[in-house]
Amino acid sequence: MEKIKVGFIGLGNMGSGMSLNIAKAGYDMVVHDINREAATDLLELGTEWADTPKQLAESADLIFTSLPGPPEVNAVSIGEDGLIEGVSSGSIWIDLSTSSPTLIRELSKNFEKQGASVLDAPVSGGVKGAQTGKLAIMVGGNEKIFNQIKPVLDSFGDKVSYTGSIGSGSICKLMHNTIGYGMQMIISECLTLGVKSGVDAESLLECIKNGSVGRGNLLNVTLQDTYLQGKFDPPNFALKLARKDVSLALELGREYDVPMEAASHAYNELTAAMNRGWENKDSRISLLLQEERAGNVEVRLDQSK
Ligand code: NAD
Repeated sequence: MEKIKVGFIGLGNMGSGMSLNIAKAGYDMVVHDINREAATDLLELGTEWADTPKQLAESADLIFTSLPGPPEVNAVSIGEDGLIEGVSSGSIWIDLSTSSPTLIRELSKNFEKQGASVLDAPVSGGVKGAQTGKLAIMVGGNEKIFNQIKPVLDSFGDKVSYTGSIGSGSICKLMHNTIGYGMQMIISECLTLGVKSGVDAESLLECIKNGSVGRGNLLNVTLQDTYLQGKFDPPNFALKLARKDVSLALELGREYDVPMEAASHAYNELTAAMNRGWENKDSRISLLLQEERAGNVEVRLDQSK
């Protein structure tokens, strides 16, 4: 990419680290935040300040935003003195916020009318990742534009994925975080039951980390070998055995008076799958029940890729 000027709006916990890494990579920069103090470090490095998103968009070729959520993304892009008033044909806006896929799809149409392109590119890796350049970046939008600006993304992220059309980056990010928080719920149930029934926290954590859960086998191996290929026969781990394990854990929960909501939900799901006559199939077959409830959605990997 020839010499470009990068604009960055939203210099908070994530934005400060990401924008500093872009500046350190040598790009000319102009920055803005509703709190000017947030720009102190960047201004010391010699970056320019813009008073409004409009003013920033008038001088930057490539604009990043890292804002709390949909209301701020809306205000900065199409509100008073917003980006849309300053962009010109060829401008590129990349929203790094975790925000609404539907909103960015709508905003993108407005920006296209001005000849500007929009990508959604939420990130994962936390504040430390933003500071050290170790972020996953999930990018939706025009693939040609993505390839054009990828070197800038590489300056603050180490795992950059192109995910498809506009909005798809945000969808990946929302699914990713929701999996994390769902897992957190069942982890807390099992940690509290484990400790209350007599194991010290250190041993419990060590065993969970050393086992297939801790090794990340579910995402990296098991689902890919079974569910994501629609392959449940012969079983790697039979459904009836999986249900036995969860049932024993629930029994322990009753003995020790520990409510196990998420585990009960898992047990009920495995039971419903048993009632389909699937007891001797691989336990992952129970995931077909959710596919049915979702309106017969099939989640299968393209084996040619
Ligand atoms: P933050 O609140 O620390 O930073 C947001 C920044 O935006 C602040 O500096 C704020 O002053 C500025 N801002 C707010 N409204 C503005 C406006 N109208 N105009 C200009 N500037 C404005 O939030 P954060 O933790 O840096 O998160 C930013 C985004 O990244 C969020 O969407 C969040 O969900 C996502 N995210 C956060 C983390 C994390 O660990 N903090 C990790 C991954 C993704």
